[in-house]
Amino acid sequence: MTSLERTSSIWHPFTQHGLGEPIPMVESAKGARLNLADGTSMIDAISSWWVTTHGHCHPPIMAAIAEQAQKLDQMIFAGWTHAPAEEVAAGLRTIMPETLTRVFFSDSGSTSVEVALKMALGFWHWRGEARSRIVVMEHSYHGDTIGAMSVGERGVFNQPYDPLLFDVGRIPFPEDETGQNTLDALEALCRMRDTAALIVEPLVLGAGGMLVYSPRVLAAVREICARYGVLFIADEVMTGWGRTGTLLACEQADVVPDILCLSKGLTGGAVPLAVTMASEPIYEAHFSSDRARMFFHSSSYTANPIACAAACANLKLWREEPVRERIAALSAKQAHWLDKLGQVYHFDRPRNLGTIAALDLKSNEADGYMNALAPRLMAFFRERGVLLRPLGNTVYVMPPYCITDEDLAQVWDAIGEAVLSF
Ligand SMILES: *Cc1c(COP(=O)(O)O)cnc(C)c1O
Repeated sequence: MTSLERTSSIWHPFTQHGLGEPIPMVESAKGARLNLADGTSMIDAISSWWVTTHGHCHPPIMAAIAEQAQKLDQMIFAGWTHAPAEEVAAGLRTIMPETLTRVFFSDSGSTSVEVALKMALGFWHWRGEARSRIVVMEHSYHGDTIGAMSVGERGVFNQPYDPLLFDVGRIPFPEDETGQNTLDALEALCRMRDTAALIVEPLVLGAGGMLVYSPRVLAAVREICARYGVLFIADEVMTGWGRTGTLLACEQADVVPDILCLSKGLTGGAVPLAVTMASEPIYEAHFSSDRARMFFHSSSYTANPIACAAACANLKLWREEPVRERIAALSAKQAHWLDKLGQVYHFDRPRNLGTIAALDLKSNEADGYMNALAPRLMAFFRERGVLLRPLGNTVYVMPPYCITDEDLAQVWDAIGEAVLSF
């Protein structure tokens, strides 16, 4: 279908309409299943872009949304508050690292990153130190707004906008267990007196290709930042809420950040919400009787009550249901399937961490997002009733925690077939 034939005027994200690929219509969802308008159903093996944790339309979350919608829909959050937001903040304080004492709300992962960067720069500004350099890891992804793109990997994704992106310090992705190159590069950048903060995706670089690195390297990275007083920002937008096997990926390295970004699974993936949690010194640097020193950031829907109610329901699930056990069980199954497939077929770099499993298909082209296998693979999986969205030649499975054994088997069978067919 050419763009002229399309009847919809919607311009979709990360979609090349010029290729005329089908855009299926989804009518409803339950658990790990999407029900399409044509009467078929599809297994959501990527948690609707990494957000759905407990499952689609999870009853307690839906009930919390419905109940809140009868009470208070939306209100200004500058200088006002409401019960659902207070409950989210209090709930986060009990479940997240103790030193992250302050909770700032926003609406998406990208904005939580923008907020984190502004907090870090504000911190140094109000402390009277001229520090503004942000250090980032090669292959990172932190969102698609200008600031978030600036701290992410540069390439085909952001080339037209490059003139607007700010300069950052870059450290290589840790290629081995020691990550010595990474640590050396970080130390050199931290020695520069104007380095303000490091932002990093702990343990897994998601959009960069599900690249996994060791907790030991993460711990060493954290230690170097601490030694030089450089703020450590953990972007757990994807890794948070159990994705990597623990509530936060940072836990596996025994690391606590100065600033923490959370979104995606914060509401169980039902509605958009994000928080940036900060340690007390960062809050204190902005605390004053001088109005010019306040944290100048807001958006219309900051801490939307209905979204907060969904987050409250998610926090309650984490407190009261065996979510961690479910994650452990799914993690074991993912590891099993990856191993089983590896015994039969040949592919590159099998890797898994928690509920995430990934492998690279052999390809004549360069690895990376633009590898031409991606759209062909997507169509291949769609025909087999599986929603997967490979990153170039990297196929990964990141299902909702409630996926059934039968559905998971269907996903991995389709991947096995793909390994043979491509
Ligand atoms: C998805 C993602 C973001 C951006 O979140 P949005 O809600 O899409 O803006 C930021 N950081 C990481 C690590 C992500 O995976």
